[in-house]
Amino acid sequence: MLEIKNLSVRYRGGHENALSGINLTFEKGEFVCILGKSGAGKSTFIRCINGLQKPNQGQVSWNGESVSNMTEKQLLKIRREMGMIFQHFNLIPRLSVLQNVLTGMFGYRSTYKNLIGWFSPEEVNRAKQVIEDVGLTEQIGRRVEHLSGGQKQRVGIARALLQQPKLLLGDEPVSSLDPGTSNHIFTLLQEMHNRHQLLTVINVHDVDLARRFATRIIALKDGKIVFDGSPELFNEIE
Ligand code: ADP
Ligand code: ADP
Repeated sequence: MLEIKNLSVRYRGGHENALSGINLTFEKGEFVCILGKSGAGKSTFIRCINGLQKPNQGQVSWNGESVSNMTEKQLLKIRREMGMIFQHFNLIPRLSVLQNVLTGMFGYRSTYKNLIGWFSPEEVNRAKQVIEDVGLTEQIGRRVEHLSGGQKQRVGIARALLQQPKLLLGDEPVSSLDPGTSNHIFTLLQEMHNRHQLLTVINVHDVDLARRFATRIIALKDGKIVFDGSPELFNEIE
């Protein structure tokens, strides 16, 4: 479903590769947590999958299509199949829960401008449904700036699910939340994962969360894979 071949990234001005020679294959139904210290390459890895970052070498294939060689227009199409959630939520503070979720229609470039337009009743109904799925129906008309951190990430998840993606990506989606809230968010992610038969690939700091929720853990260190296997076998990154 998702195949990564010999992927290497070096940022301009960087002395080391951010990622070096990564080879991985992911299948539908996996719940993958990527672990690694700050700077290990986790974020770069996620950004290569959805084409936000171009690799210097190697490639990412999504259902047989090479993401790394796509034009921006092709990427917009492919990103509808890849929901993404972020550490700092990337919501529009003064807009409501419903409006923020509807920006999921526009991939990752949600702006106020996108919202001057008309959504079909079907689109609005679909948004209402995903808002219900994440447990925010009572907050549907509130501005997201008034929500708690956990509620904001629920909005982020609903927005990511709006387009019925096949892949859900997360770049440290719980790193700014407390442990209890993080646990709730992962429980929700697991539920959505199971219900929609997703492939889920998420960066996390917290080893315990990965152990509890992942079906597979990948650990990165200095841009290289140092572990790839089942959570029961994972010890620590030295
Ligand atoms: P992680 O998500 O695990 O913290 P990153 O993928 O953000 O790791 O970073 C991997 C390496 O690439 C680090 O050494 C980081 O400093 C470097 N890096 C990340 N983004 C950039 C950038 N835009 N320009 C230059 N170096 C970067
Ligand atoms: P979480 O759900 O992530 O545990 P909290 O409920 O502890 O988050 O709240 C996180 C932040 O959001 C706090 O700074 C809190 O002041 C703010 N906050 C929570 N609920 C409201 C609200 N109803 N109106 C305004 N700010 C709120």
